[in-house]
Amino acid sequence: MISVTQPTQQKELKEPEPEHCPGPESNDAGKADACAGCANKEICESLPKKGPDPDLPLINERLNDIEHKILVLSGKGGVGKSTFTSMLSWALASYEELEIGAMDLDICGPSLPKMLGCEKETVHASNSGWTPVYVADNLGMMSIQFMLPNADSAIIWRGAKKNGLIKQFLKDVDWGRLDYLVIDTPPGTSDEHLSVTTYMKEVGIDGALIVTTPQEVALLDVRKEIDFCKKAGIKILGLVENMSGFVCPNCGGESKIFKPTTGGGEKLAKDLGIRFLGSVPLDVRIRESCDQGESFLDLYPDSPACDAILEVVDGLLDEVDKNSQ
Ligand code: SF4
Repeated sequence: MISVTQPTQQKELKEPEPEHCPGPESNDAGKADACAGCANKEICESLPKKGPDPDLPLINERLNDIEHKILVLSGKGGVGKSTFTSMLSWALASYEELEIGAMDLDICGPSLPKMLGCEKETVHASNSGWTPVYVADNLGMMSIQFMLPNADSAIIWRGAKKNGLIKQFLKDVDWGRLDYLVIDTPPGTSDEHLSVTTYMKEVGIDGALIVTTPQEVALLDVRKEIDFCKKAGIKILGLVENMSGFVCPNCGGESKIFKPTTGGGEKLAKDLGIRFLGSVPLDVRIRESCDQGESFLDLYPDSPACDAILEVVDGLLDEVDKNSQ
């Protein structure tokens, strides 16, 4: 198993770091929102400040050969974010001339390896870094799942340790040249989001794709996610409404499961001035394909959900292009 570099601590902390801790050795130690009320505040404030992170140039160098970087975000869990990330990755990799990477930053609940059919793989380290696991000739992926002793091991980590792993992912994975790196993040706005946006600030992120479901309870959290993106200076490439209806596997007819009582994703996007990329209906075969680690787009090209997904991907690429001109 590959070990994760642990931040060294110069003084003993009174208590374990709380959630959202920026890291006792970071420049924000003692000053971040998470530090208010933390028992370690005084100790962290007294630690010598370090100046710019010496790993940033290494991260920039490593990610420099990646043309486009896209974050996939959702306000709430259970809206199909990782499912959509897997289908986005397969869709991009269907262009043979493109090189694609998929990075699973959901440290506590990595599901992308299962959906991309590589959950039993382990990661290999070489002189040039960690080698991604390749699920197709032009589609590589990296996830903490590859470093667990077994698939059912729980990850119970606080902020600083998560930060350390994310930094290592960004610094040490040898992606080579990529056209697109798709980064799957956990739901909400947590340590993983803060870390990845901080470490990638200089090298640049093209923007975020936001995934939601139509009902108000999901949209409530999406508004927070959008606010996070604005505060973190991340461009929102667009919003996709997942599970917008149910496609019957027998007759192919569509019915609404999650009612858009407040107008759904389309109205939210319009209200907030962001691009609505489309609605993807729920098709039971999406779940089956993800469980089998296969591409739904390849297996069921005649599903209405396929057309919807490809339309969303087209819109997303169009936004990325506009953004890079
Ligand atoms: S950096 Fe902030 S949140 Fe983390 S241990 Fe120190 S005071 Fe607490």
